[in-house]
Amino acid sequence: MWYFYDDFQNVEFDKIVNEINNAFRNIFIGKEWKEIFTKQFEQEIRKTKLHKLFYDYYELYKTTDGNERRKIYSAYCKNMRIEEICLGTIKPISYSQLNENVSKKLRELFDYLYSDFTKRKLFKNNVGGLKGYYEQFYIETSININKRCPFCGIQAMASGKNSHRPDFDHYLLESKYPFVSLLRKNLMPMCDDCNKKYKKVKDISNYKKVFYPFSRNINNKLVYKNNTYKIVNNTYSEEVTSWDEIFDVENRIDLYSENLKLGWITSINETKIFGAQLSFDEALKMEIARIENNYYSSDNFIEKAYLEDLQIYV
Ligand SMILES: [Zn+2]
Repeated sequence: MWYFYDDFQNVEFDKIVNEINNAFRNIFIGKEWKEIFTKQFEQEIRKTKLHKLFYDYYELYKTTDGNERRKIYSAYCKNMRIEEICLGTIKPISYSQLNENVSKKLRELFDYLYSDFTKRKLFKNNVGGLKGYYEQFYIETSININKRCPFCGIQAMASGKNSHRPDFDHYLLESKYPFVSLLRKNLMPMCDDCNKKYKKVKDISNYKKVFYPFSRNINNKLVYKNNTYKIVNNTYSEEVTSWDEIFDVENRIDLYSENLKLGWITSINETKIFGAQLSFDEALKMEIARIENNYYSSDNFIEKAYLEDLQIYV
């Protein structure tokens, strides 16, 4: 990734997710139906479909055998640990590993949580819906500085105020894995191209390692060599490989830059002409220094890699 998302707080969102996770835990430890939710949460969801979906799951759970229960519990414990799944140290448990009835009920519940529950009063009033959550994401992470998608570096990321905001990608597929549809550490704003044309239904847990989008202190570098772009990071080479496999980053940057190269050279020549005493090399250095300050903003990092390659020849 060209830049990583900063971790930020959202107490209200976490509170809702904790209530839901606690309800699952209470079912695991065999509590009675009336003890599954906290009083307040029970009142808040009583009239929503979530209440019924939980009840159906509760009833079904009572009739499932120990072996199946252990599998569900294992999914509950593993699937939410997105960072370790990215690192490849944990393999998540998929719906297909659970028995058909359980998997059907859980799927209904988690589908509902993301696509409907986020539009209901409780989530809307407290979090501002997914729109409000994206607005916060935009403000509190460096999307608002870089304004580009961190996965490709090419497409713009609209601000939360735009009528069309980028979608949240379920980094670990919600269609394949239970417990991850409404999990903050699994919801990544991503440009439409990355989301719909490249990542699609690729499963991050099939790769040896992938970047965890909330990582810190990782700097991937773009270089231009032999007429093609390459991402370089010797410490995270496995993550870089899967990143490029999932999003086709290097090819997309090659295509993207094709029509821009001439403009970049022209602007160096113009600098040279305006500052008559500058050599091409000096003008080149000046331009590189100028864009270095806003490396990931606009296509500066793509331009810089190209200009650095030119430097070798002058
Ligand atoms: Zn993108």
